[in-house]
Amino acid sequence: MNILVINCGSSSAKFQLFDIDNGTVLAKGNAERIGIDGKLTFKPTGKDEFVSTDPMPDHKVAVKMILDALVDKTHGVISDISEIAAVGHRVLHGGKYYSASVIVDDDVKRVIRECFPLGPLHNPANLIGIEACEAVLPKGTPQVAVFDTAFHQTMPPKAYMYALPYEYYEKYSIRRYGFHGTSHRYVSHRVADFLGKKYEDLKIVTCHLGNGSSFAAVKDGKCQDTSMGLTPLAGICMGTRTGDIDPAIVPFIMKKEGLSPDEMDNLLNKKSGVQGISGVSSDFRDLEKAAKEGNERAQLALDMFAYQGKKIIGSYAAAMGGVDVVVFTAGIGENTDHMRAAICKDLEFMGIEIDDSVNTGLRGKEAIISKPGSKVTVCVIPTNEELAIAQETKALI
Ligand code: ADP
Repeated sequence: MNILVINCGSSSAKFQLFDIDNGTVLAKGNAERIGIDGKLTFKPTGKDEFVSTDPMPDHKVAVKMILDALVDKTHGVISDISEIAAVGHRVLHGGKYYSASVIVDDDVKRVIRECFPLGPLHNPANLIGIEACEAVLPKGTPQVAVFDTAFHQTMPPKAYMYALPYEYYEKYSIRRYGFHGTSHRYVSHRVADFLGKKYEDLKIVTCHLGNGSSFAAVKDGKCQDTSMGLTPLAGICMGTRTGDIDPAIVPFIMKKEGLSPDEMDNLLNKKSGVQGISGVSSDFRDLEKAAKEGNERAQLALDMFAYQGKKIIGSYAAAMGGVDVVVFTAGIGENTDHMRAAICKDLEFMGIEIDDSVNTGLRGKEAIISKPGSKVTVCVIPTNEELAIAQETKALI
């Protein structure tokens, strides 16, 4: 069974076609610069890459071009679009409405629209992607929405409420939602399988450390808490996002610098984080290089990231009454041995002991990186959000 996974942004549509029965990728690529000029990069497995710069005035045309590429006689991987059993869409925000993926119908589209204010950059694009697929694929092809927020919907109110006047929760649905849910769910389940343990029996802290980074506390098979909030700005400092700061800083800077709400939002999301601290880069590879060459602000940014990550793991251990497993995933979590070691350093008191002989140099593969006697098992589990979306889609149809 073939499942197409689409992750639509405002001017792009990333895609992967899976043969889900054996989990293989038949083709993947990206339609970029939609509405500007257009560039389709199409990578069929085992064949040469194909690039088209035909105009892409809107998402409907982009989806049509992706489908045409999939069935193309030369570089295509299927002979007819009826071989696509369903499409799984990554959707940022399902608000409080969805704790699992759903088959898209008019009601689901209404909710995705209702959540536009909560995910103003992503949800409109996600809906456009769904409607473009509906318009171009054979009628009746199921479209499935897989929400970034869904996994975190099991959090109790004491974890998701902010201590603002209650009316803002009622009026505007302001609360913690959390993101990267597909990844947290995937790696938390995967690590239980990998360790041969029952998911429901484990207390797990999942650390998704990439350009955007978030943590989740998973106990009794449910997400109990997570570090991102109403938006992905909260939690640990990230590539260009502040993470948690004293909220009073926001009006303070706005007044001092005469910034509008949008300008402040931009500063918090795009100009802060390790980029803002180091002045070097948002990319951890650049930071490590600069720090090695003696750049003190790059080192400070790395130290802050490790320190904040360590504090979140400690707080989740406290929240869950202990921790059995810590999992690292995503670009930094999978590839950066220094950062994994720095985050876990000084956590020996709570039973986290890293085995340097395994951790050092380990990249992008499943492994236990704690010492055999370590009370807490620390693992690296590469995430695969697209595969997880395809699996969810298959399960639903
Ligand atoms: P996102 O999906 O959020 O854009 P990723 O999960 O790809 O982000 O993570 C990007 C981050 O991971 C970057 O800071 C980058 O430095 C880091 N990273 C990715 N690959 C490597 C690698 N091979 N070695 C070290 N760091 C890496």
